[in-house]
Amino acid sequence: MADEVNRLVILGSGPAGLTAALYSARANLSPLLIEGLTPGGQLTITTDVENYPGFEHGIQGPEMMDVFHRQAARFGTRFITGNASVANLHTHPFELTVEEAIVRCEALIVSTGASAKLLGLESEQRLMGYGVSACATCDGAFFKDKEVVVVGGGDTAMEEAIFLTRFCRKVTIVHRRNQLRASKIMQERAFKNPKITFMWDTAVQEIYGEPRTGVSGVRLQNVTTGNISDFRADGVFMAIGHQPNTTIFAGQLEMDELGYVKVRAGSTYTNIDGVFAAGDVIDRVYRQAITAAGTGCMAAIDAERWLETQQH
Ligand code: NAP
Repeated sequence: MADEVNRLVILGSGPAGLTAALYSARANLSPLLIEGLTPGGQLTITTDVENYPGFEHGIQGPEMMDVFHRQAARFGTRFITGNASVANLHTHPFELTVEEAIVRCEALIVSTGASAKLLGLESEQRLMGYGVSACATCDGAFFKDKEVVVVGGGDTAMEEAIFLTRFCRKVTIVHRRNQLRASKIMQERAFKNPKITFMWDTAVQEIYGEPRTGVSGVRLQNVTTGNISDFRADGVFMAIGHQPNTTIFAGQLEMDELGYVKVRAGSTYTNIDGVFAAGDVIDRVYRQAITAAGTGCMAAIDAERWLETQQH
């Protein structure tokens, strides 16, 4: 594989990567798409997608990504699965280390998305998968008739909490302020749900439990009064936002202070000629499937035109 030079490699298989694959495959570039450890990206850990145009009655996230995948494959996208651990963009062709293999390419589209953020508590790490989760869709069914805490005040927290009421007896949203960041419609849905209660101005300081027995509760602090209290819970779901997956490009691609890749305004051009970026990895504002697909399309067109200029 090391000797082969791909014309175009796309790193990441969410809506941005798969849309870039679809467009570039239809432009006969025979792209190679590297699917990471979450093939399909964040939409595969979500449930109902009701706001993607074209799906009048909504669609499940994983099913939607399946459709994207098949559509990209239909026009000749090649797929490999693996974690890209090293990127060398100082050389050309560019080189990526994917598991044990070196993948080389003339042009690269970075669409590595973003991952769930965590609080950074030792107990959170220790109990991850044993009662602590960052994905209600993945783990909600384990909490049938249980009482859980959801941490966060954004759309993700509301969505996770509402989803969890399908299984849980009680869902408590713990938020560090007294105002939600979530959109009005999601707020209203959460407020209306009789199984959901809110705990305002509150931070989770510690999660109690053992991997063998699971989570038993949390230690909370009221951030305005400083009061500390214990709260019983069988599970804790983290829903405090996301961080861009850009570690392997540090020191090579220009990024903002949060690690989002910077692109030239109105385009997907990065600071390195031949490297383009699309989707949540460049977007700290909109972060929607439709906007990711849109910039994925732009990246394919930018890459195609750039490759054309390289042919003499
Ligand atoms: P977000 O909007 O950034 O919200 C993160 C929430 O977590 C905020 O309420 C924040 O508190 C809280 N938070 C962050 N760090 C924290 C910490 N260390 N400790 C305690 N709380 C912390 O992230 P998101 O909810 O994942 O949403 C991201 C984007 O996706 C948004 O644009 C959203 O609209 C979109 N989205 C849409 C849908 C939908 O439409 N169905 C579903 C999911 C996501 P503060 O408010 O105090 O900052």
